[in-house]
Amino acid sequence: MKIVKVDVLPCHMPQSDPKWRFSIHANRISKGWLVEITAEDGTVGYGYASATRHMGANSEGLKGTLDDFATLLMGRDAFDIEDILVRLDHHLKGMNQAKAAIDCALFEIASRSLGVPMYHLFGGKRRTELPVMRVLSIKEPAEMARMGRKLVEAGYKHIKIKVDGHVTLDAVRVKAIRDEVGPDIRLIIDANQAYKPKEAIQLANKVVDYGVEIFEQPCKSDDYAGLKLVTQNSPIATEADESAGSVHEVMHLVANRIVDMVSLKVPKLGGLRNTLAAARICQAGDIPCRLGAHVGPRLMSAQAMHLAASLPELSFACEFGEYVRLENDITEGVDNIDGKVHVTDAPGSGARLRSDAHIQIAEAEKLMATV
Ligand SMILES: [Mg+2]
Repeated sequence: MKIVKVDVLPCHMPQSDPKWRFSIHANRISKGWLVEITAEDGTVGYGYASATRHMGANSEGLKGTLDDFATLLMGRDAFDIEDILVRLDHHLKGMNQAKAAIDCALFEIASRSLGVPMYHLFGGKRRTELPVMRVLSIKEPAEMARMGRKLVEAGYKHIKIKVDGHVTLDAVRVKAIRDEVGPDIRLIIDANQAYKPKEAIQLANKVVDYGVEIFEQPCKSDDYAGLKLVTQNSPIATEADESAGSVHEVMHLVANRIVDMVSLKVPKLGGLRNTLAAARICQAGDIPCRLGAHVGPRLMSAQAMHLAASLPELSFACEFGEYVRLENDITEGVDNIDGKVHVTDAPGSGARLRSDAHIQIAEAEKLMATV
């Protein structure tokens, strides 16, 4: 079934909270591109390429790469996912976010044309619903506590607290949130590389008493020795995110027991196939893994959810709800209810383009043409 058309469409989404930030960036607009691949029988698959600058992909670079890749896709059999991705890897090293969008769009075409939910292609469904962990932006402690309460009132039972490298203030943030949400909500912290190893160990020793279970990416992504120092000296689990930026890096982390856990993401790993491979490596090394935030339209979370539904083990709640804090989502069909996402049984990922999506895309293209 030949690919007859590939379009790369703008899909930039403003944060509903303009002051949302983590320790590296404060992106007012979450930028990315929708890849629309059409097969000769009319089946259309969508994938989203997220511009994640701290993982090496900006918006302009992604667009150029996707346009380049599009010419290589034309005329190929849409079912040849492995061969297409191998050729893209040979054509250009890295740019996993662009490759992930194509991989996801091809899995959509395959599952839609077969008339099956996407989880069938990963070995079938082990779970019918998944608890969702939501993420709290860095703010003053009292405001973070208030926002934590709102998440709990919306039904969420898992909260990730962003921290920014100040031991005393970060501990105050965690305490304020724990006091506000009560003892039953499961908490983790994420520094996005903001800490030096010894300060990270200090913070871990402070927040263990507030029931924090995981310290995500405390140190620089390539400071493997520092991460291992934290892992060996922290009373709570150390988790890699930015350090796990490719299947090869996941293998290095697992083989050397540098961390206790790994956060997997489809865009940074270059697609659903690679994410499944990374999960298998974690399983083989007995290092727990889960799926992290897929920031962009709900389409991304839906596709990652189908893979998560099939994995043999998940260590903790996945972050399938960050689309809630973004505006102008051009996709629909998947929603969080009472802090959980239910695995859809419709063909594909269950996410589809809104009926008015092309109006929004056309307006964005017009705006770009005038800049
Ligand atoms: Mg993270």
